[in-house]
Amino acid sequence: MCIFCKILNKEIPSYKIYEDDDFYAMLDISQATPGHTLVLPKKHITNVFDLPEDLASKLFVVVKKVSDLLKEKLHFNDLNILNNSGQIAGQTVMHLHIHIIPRYSKEEINLSPVEHEYNKDLLEEVYNKIMK
Ligand code: AMP
Ligand code: ZN
Repeated sequence: MCIFCKILNKEIPSYKIYEDDDFYAMLDISQATPGHTLVLPKKHITNVFDLPEDLASKLFVVVKKVSDLLKEKLHFNDLNILNNSGQIAGQTVMHLHIHIIPRYSKEEINLSPVEHEYNKDLLEEVYNKIMK
């Protein structure tokens, strides 16, 4: 089972910030910027090429909803929405996910998890801000 399926199966903890019948959103364990969030389908779908059209159209509605929630709670004005489909494109977890990355400055973002240490304090601080 893939790591995101294990999260959805509650075998691994996550900082959940949104859930509906089809999708789940959680903080990325490696925060490229505070509030960096992943939106994923509950069904194991590898990447955009395997995504059925009905889920594809629903997915962006959820991305929009989560973006608005993050903006309201974290007070930024700019963000990137990004998907890596396939290994060459930089996909490391082979369960489709959309990155939502708030931007607070023009400082380059780096999506490589090795560049960011796992920071439980930051994750909890951001999570509390979003969920309150
Ligand atoms: P990608 O390179 O687009 O496949 O992104 C995979 C993302 O999943 C990376 O940004 C990782 O930090 C993130 N990630 C990996 N494991 C977990 C986890 N257990 N919980 C939350 N995010 C994770
Ligand atoms: Zn999966």
